[in-house]
Amino acid sequence: MSKRILVTGGAGFLGSHLCERLLAQGNDVLCVDNYFTGTKQNLAACLDNPRFELMRHDVTFPLYVEVDEIYNLACPASPIHYQHDPVQTTKTSVHGAINMLGLAKRTRAKIFQSSTSEVYGDPTVHPQVESYRGNVNPLGPRACYDEGKRCAETLFFDYWRQHKLRIKVARIFNTYGPRMHPNDGRVVSNFIVQALKGEDITLYGDGTQTRAFCYVDDQIEGWMRLVNDTPDDFTGPVNIGNPVEISMKQLAEAVLKVVGGKSKLVIARPLPVDDPLQRCPDITLAREKLKWEPKVPLEQGLKNTVEYFDGLLRGNNHVS
Ligand code: NAD
Ligand code: UDP
Ligand code: UDP
Repeated sequence: MSKRILVTGGAGFLGSHLCERLLAQGNDVLCVDNYFTGTKQNLAACLDNPRFELMRHDVTFPLYVEVDEIYNLACPASPIHYQHDPVQTTKTSVHGAINMLGLAKRTRAKIFQSSTSEVYGDPTVHPQVESYRGNVNPLGPRACYDEGKRCAETLFFDYWRQHKLRIKVARIFNTYGPRMHPNDGRVVSNFIVQALKGEDITLYGDGTQTRAFCYVDDQIEGWMRLVNDTPDDFTGPVNIGNPVEISMKQLAEAVLKVVGGKSKLVIARPLPVDDPLQRCPDITLAREKLKWEPKVPLEQGLKNTVEYFDGLLRGNNHVS
């Protein structure tokens, strides 16, 4: 059955893939975005669809529309973007959550929140399980993002308890794929662009810090299972990510294997302040409740992403 679905932050990397998926299911999709990091070009495949609407709007301001479901993604996600205007980052997470929860309360819409592995901070429990309460520095340069997302989770659970909203909270771990922003400083995009240009691959610190990388299609499939295939009393939070943990040095080697070329690994700078040393999701809960696990191996996902960036650098794909 077709639904009216609002996607905030829909012009971004993950949002644009989500809009495509929701349209393919036959839904009406209203995308709102202030274009801070997102672009219309990301939505090229959606713009001609009569079921798609796009509105320039900042979620820190109220929004009155009639919808059945909300996916709340609006928020810059990469450290250089969320640290560019940290006050606006916190406002986006917190005021944005209040406005979207207020909207969900009035329309009785089901609402999905794109939370993050950053709620665990620099974790002391490994791999991270949903019951772990995290190790976040509330005063550091990452706090605007981490604490903003933590407060958003608090608001989701208070609206759920107080106003009986139907909420679905996903804790997203590092996700990559086509339409990542080439200049947002994230490690996968940096390494691929550097390798394609034959430049040095920039490790921060000694490259032994770890992450676990989920391909975008797997991530979106996890959200679909969470929102559509779990009973209303399953709220999450649930980790959605790929549990294959690798060091940044190993990632650089994997990128070089796909791209080829002569780039060298260099230690470009010390590890940034509060940069987590280890991160890997425990996805036992997602396996059990969503019957989901990632399917796309790193090498395949990197190949698809390299193809996208290669097109971008040759001027075949658009970017703002
Ligand atoms: P992105 O930067 O590509 O997308 C975010 C979108 O939100 C952009 O289109 C941006 O313009 C928009 N936006 C920002 N502030 C806004 C505001 N005030 N009002 C309206 N729109 C606004 O990032 P992404 O990787 O697609 O992330 C999407 C969501 O997923 C974010 O909430 C992010 O925190 C979360 N997330 C992503 C990852 C990841 O690895 N990509 C990991 C954890 C969580
Ligand atoms: N809101 C919105 N759209 C709606 C309903 C509410 O943007 O359709 C915003 C509005 O700014 C409000 C906030 O959501 O302040 C929280 O709504 P809620 O009903 O929880 O609280 P209120 O502040 O209205 O008492
Ligand atoms: N990183 C790196 N070289 C780069 C960009 C990032 O070594 O050119 C490191 C960064 O310090 C961090 C990891 O890669 O340890 C992942 O960084 P990213 O910004 O992609 O994601 P996050 O830190 O938010 O998980």
